[in-house]
Amino acid sequence: MSSASAPPAVEHLDVLIVGAGISGIGAARYLKTGLPSKSFAVLEARAASGGTWDLFRYPGVRSDSDLHTFGYEFAPWRDQESIASAPRILAYLRRTATENGLDPHIRYHHKVLSAAWSTERARWTVEIERTDTGERTTLTCAWLFCAMGYYRYDEGFTPRFEGRERFGGPIVHPQDWPEDLDHAGKRVLVIGSGATAVTLVPAMARTAAHVTMVQRTPTYIVPVPKRDPLANALRTCLGEERGHALTRRKNIAQQRAIWAFCRRCPKAARRIIRWINSRQLPEGYPVDEHFNPPYDPWDQRLCAVPDGDLFKAIKNGSASVVTDRIDTFTEKGVSLRSGRELEADIIVTATGLNVQAFGGIPMTVDGTPVHLPDHVAYKGMMLSGVPNFSFAIGYTNSSWTLKVGLLCEHFCRLLAHMDAHGYDVCRPEVADPAMETRPFLDFGAGYIRRVVDQLPRQGDRMPWLTSMSYHGDVKLMRADSVTDPELHFTRAVAARPEEAAR
Ligand SMILES: Cc1cc2nc3c(=O)[nH]c(=O)nc-3n(C[C@H](O)[C@H](O)[C@H](O)COP(=O)(O)OP(=O)(O)OC[C@H]3O[C@@H](n4cnc5c(N)ncnc54)[C@H](O)[C@@H]3O)c2cc1C
Repeated sequence: MSSASAPPAVEHLDVLIVGAGISGIGAARYLKTGLPSKSFAVLEARAASGGTWDLFRYPGVRSDSDLHTFGYEFAPWRDQESIASAPRILAYLRRTATENGLDPHIRYHHKVLSAAWSTERARWTVEIERTDTGERTTLTCAWLFCAMGYYRYDEGFTPRFEGRERFGGPIVHPQDWPEDLDHAGKRVLVIGSGATAVTLVPAMARTAAHVTMVQRTPTYIVPVPKRDPLANALRTCLGEERGHALTRRKNIAQQRAIWAFCRRCPKAARRIIRWINSRQLPEGYPVDEHFNPPYDPWDQRLCAVPDGDLFKAIKNGSASVVTDRIDTFTEKGVSLRSGRELEADIIVTATGLNVQAFGGIPMTVDGTPVHLPDHVAYKGMMLSGVPNFSFAIGYTNSSWTLKVGLLCEHFCRLLAHMDAHGYDVCRPEVADPAMETRPFLDFGAGYIRRVVDQLPRQGDRMPWLTSMSYHGDVKLMRADSVTDPELHFTRAVAARPEEAAR
């Protein structure tokens, strides 16, 4: 056959990372450093890197974790402020990508549509759409690493609000913030009580006529210092690398201690948070009505407010909180179950995300669709019955990236083990078919509960538990062996013609 009529060769990579957010950039750096001979690419559906930190553009958008733990272990956080705005986080991520030579590996406008595993060929075939041209392409990879985050990018979550169409002004979702929205001098209603709402309220209150946060249920809100004087002192005295490492250790211990205290002594934790809140709020403020949730601390994520900015806005009168239920939107605002009417020029629905696993892409294994609830997460990073596949889902009780860093290390060790023994395929399989399973994310938040039956499961024992403990994971992911009786390694059938013929 002449070369002119040969079908175009399909590109093949050792590893395909999908998503160029904090997880995908981190994974690429671990892979490039740990296994420099591996060919890899990072496919990113959007025109830019950064994921969450590029997508969200609402006023004040920031982390609520400190960047010494939310940032990478290998890339010191150099800013004076350890709670950082989205532009600073983005600059950090992009600088990390550049400094580590990752830019040439990232392919923008490449949206993964589906992935099909063939055991015979020991590879994934991945369908891709160019989001800039609409062109469809295919490539194959030996390993698929999913760093697509945990929510839908095309649409945030908004519950149905009665009479929504009657409201005369703009109704905005934080995930889709209009660039030209001018809230200066306007009355703003922010619906919600989560991290986004408590970020937006003080940020908008700086120029708005007034901002009212309307919540159905209060959330635990704790002030955190924007600057960490000890972190800055350590950096000055010990240099960036050692300062970062020490602050990171301190903050990991601190996050863990606070979480453990809240879980062990919920009543005391609730009292302490209430006391902190009441000290920051005006004299006589109804703290219990607006800041005393019906659940225990850390049943859902605590919301952090840097330097108590939300409380300051309430104290200076530029913001207020109303705890009630919205009955209906009206022409002028909202009408509440209590009978109260709130007028507004702009309504912001800070009502959350649509959680989605692995970008919602359909996957098949040897032609059989992967139905996620039928699969159990192995060490919180792979799926039972799905070969050569791993994913980056971080902690929900401390900084996301702490876990992602550890699982990337484990992933590199796993690939090295396969290379050393000539294995092509690695597939977790549950040995005990009677093993009890429970939700992958055991977290009470509404956005998780809405989709829990669409997500994979976790088991009741190792290696099928999804650990939320950094120290436990350091042992499991960094120190313990990558082999396990429930992780099966094989060679590709196609690579063993004598076996294929049997
Ligand atoms: C406003 C906000 C603030 C947060 N603050 C914190 C915090 O302070 N601390 C904390 O621990 N966590 C925080 N989180 C959670 C946060 O999302 C994660 O910690 C982290 O940013 C997730 O990074 P990621 O790279 O895993 O996913 P993402 O940032 O979501 O990135 C995923 C990337 O994958 C790409 N992608 C998705 N599907 C496809 C596809 N089919 N093909 C190609 N590319 C695809 C997306 O375009 C995106 O670039 C916050 C979340 C939000 C929304």
